[in-house]
Amino acid sequence: MWFPRAHAGALKKWAELTGDNSFLFANLLPYYKKVSTFTPPNKKTRIANATTPYDPSVWSNSGPVQASYPNWANPISSWIEIGLKALGLKALSGGLADGNIWGYGYPASTIDPAQESRSSSSTSYLREALKTTTNLNVYKNTLAKKVLFDGSKKATGAVVEAGGVEFTLSANREVIVSAGFARSPQLLMVSGVGPASTLQSYGIQVVSDLPGVGQNMWDHALVSPSYQVKVLTHNAFSDPAVIIDATNSYRNSLTGLLTNNGGDILAFDKFPNASISKATSDAITAFSNDWPTIMFMFLDAYLGYNENSGTGPAGNYASPMVAITAPFSRGNITISSADTNDNPVVSPNWLSDPRDQEMVLAAFKRSRQVFTQKETKPVVIGDEVFPGLDVATDAQILAVLKKQVFSAYHGSCTNAMGPQSNKMSVVDTKGRVYGVSSLRVVDASIFPVLPPGAPQHTVYALAEKIANDILTGS
Ligand SMILES: Cc1cc2nc3c(=O)[nH]c(=O)nc-3n(C[C@H](O)[C@H](O)[C@H](O)COP(=O)(O)OP(=O)(O)OC[C@H]3O[C@@H](n4cnc5c(N)ncnc54)[C@H](O)[C@@H]3O)c2cc1C
Repeated sequence: MWFPRAHAGALKKWAELTGDNSFLFANLLPYYKKVSTFTPPNKKTRIANATTPYDPSVWSNSGPVQASYPNWANPISSWIEIGLKALGLKALSGGLADGNIWGYGYPASTIDPAQESRSSSSTSYLREALKTTTNLNVYKNTLAKKVLFDGSKKATGAVVEAGGVEFTLSANREVIVSAGFARSPQLLMVSGVGPASTLQSYGIQVVSDLPGVGQNMWDHALVSPSYQVKVLTHNAFSDPAVIIDATNSYRNSLTGLLTNNGGDILAFDKFPNASISKATSDAITAFSNDWPTIMFMFLDAYLGYNENSGTGPAGNYASPMVAITAPFSRGNITISSADTNDNPVVSPNWLSDPRDQEMVLAAFKRSRQVFTQKETKPVVIGDEVFPGLDVATDAQILAVLKKQVFSAYHGSCTNAMGPQSNKMSVVDTKGRVYGVSSLRVVDASIFPVLPPGAPQHTVYALAEKIANDILTGS
């Protein structure tokens, strides 16, 4: 998975909202570094023009997660660079890991170079801890049902369920919830921590009335046109011969299409002059003056209505996917029962704010420019395939985008960190839940803002930072 870091502007906003400068990029950098072991791009296997600058000074070689680059760089990515350059974007020298994301570059990915396979929290942190720790018990296939509190609102453990049997795990010191942006708020709510009226409607006894639990959901909602192109892309997997060839390359030499997750380049841009109204443009300044407003995540395949890119039309396709990164719409999470066996109800509410509709139109039009430059035209076959040039007016485009829009799976901010004086804050800057003691949440749900980019590296850095708080008792 892509492994960029949050940029300095986003972390400045994070520090402002929480009143804690330890979240500024320079102060978070040691935790980012602690997360991973970095391996530079393999120049022998990647095509020569996939220039992949990085800054070794912002990486380390001692963390459990493996950060490297796929041994296959998608040929279309070199054309994408040409297109972005023609649009005036600059090549980044720090590989989106040094606090600057204004421009375009190849981020590192969470790939273990030894196997060209995914390096996940399971293959890295968990496996390492299992090798070196004797007091770690992992309960597999076990669902947390409820956090337990004593009479003084101290978290004392959790009820869990495995194989239909419920039992209690007791905590000597504290309980840490890390169930992600949708299920951490759910677990808090069924345990009595959340908006009192919601809890009462399901007969849940209120332990801490926190109206912010489950609110403020951010995500990056993607849209994109698609183009048929003259170079090999991941879309070619619809041809069995390509799958056989890619499988052999992977098995024999850890190279080829299968080492790449289907997208290389990320780019960050702002709306071109006059592409959005002054009122919306002025409202965006509330984010920060260092906050890109368009994020490109290039897909090496056909997208269409995102039903299944593998079953798109035969041939090679590319999609310059874009998301607006300063959205005004917010989603929410709520519960449909007092039982975590039932799914939480997720309402992303993408594009519900009219300003977001205006911005997504502008972002989509910008993405249409990448493959229509005279510099990129030689790689494109015919006109735009999806939605097609007959989708031309704002109303027509918006109708398509409302149907196409889908999640980048960057859901976050549903237990937002902030000062207790803000009634929508759920945790303090060390992840401690307000109104109770010995309970923390540590995951993407406690982001106060969703930085432009992809979140996993920041989730890991945040976890390292709070782990340090816990270990040092600070
Ligand atoms: C398809 C996909 C692609 C993505 N690609 C990228 C990418 O390229 N780059 C990037 O930066 N980010 C990417 N992301 C986003 C990234 O994975 C998330 O931001 C990140 O995993 C969030 O971490 P988290 O710890 O908050 O939650 P999670 O990683 O979701 O971890 C929560 C864990 O809690 C468990 N859990 C939930 N409820 C309970 C319960 N009641 N009892 C017990 N366990 C429970 C879940 O099973 C899960 O293991 C992607 C996400 C998806 C889905």
